[in-house]
Amino acid sequence: MVDPLCPERLAEDAVYLGVLTARGVKPLSRLEYPVAPRVLELLGGMGLIMADVTRIAGEGPGSVAGVPSQVIHLILSRDAGLIDRYGADFDGQPLCGETAAVVRVEARYFGYPACCAEAYIRSPHAENGLAAEDQALLFHRACPGCAATLQMIPLYRAALAEVQRQRHLFLPLEAPAGAPSAARSQHSARSRTRRERRPDGW
Ligand SMILES: [Zn+2]
Repeated sequence: MVDPLCPERLAEDAVYLGVLTARGVKPLSRLEYPVAPRVLELLGGMGLIMADVTRIAGEGPGSVAGVPSQVIHLILSRDAGLIDRYGADFDGQPLCGETAAVVRVEARYFGYPACCAEAYIRSPHAENGLAAEDQALLFHRACPGCAATLQMIPLYRAALAEVQRQRHLFLPLEAPAGAPSAARSQHSARSRTRRERRPDGW
């Protein structure tokens, strides 16, 4: 079982989202964790525009009593107008969970079919008949028999292959001394499982 929070895996997902966005498969992507300088450099080299978006996370662990904590998301897109629009919609706004309205708006930004968004709103864990390895390529849950998703799968697969070709550019990560990163970098994207939540995914 791959640790979904392992730094190499997170870096790989960041580059995967970058390639998908640079190729226009996704209009915009969001990363909910800090990425290594080398990964940022790679994303910039793909021609992506990036911006920080601050969200208010409420009084979670680590926040000062009475003072809401903030989280910073990094958004990426080829389209500066889309970056501005996303910022206008979400910057400084509280994280309000997966309401139906949020799922619909995110689907438009992130390039997920509207049919999948509606199915997810109705039943997030419905069986969709998609092969597990195809579903694992995606950041959205496909709706049952989704034709739009089937057309996307070759594009996602090609983007993941590009990430594998670029792995040497961002792995191994610059890890703090003593961190056991070398062994973890052996994880292959093929062992990806889609039970855990991924950046910008459902
Ligand atoms: Zn669908």
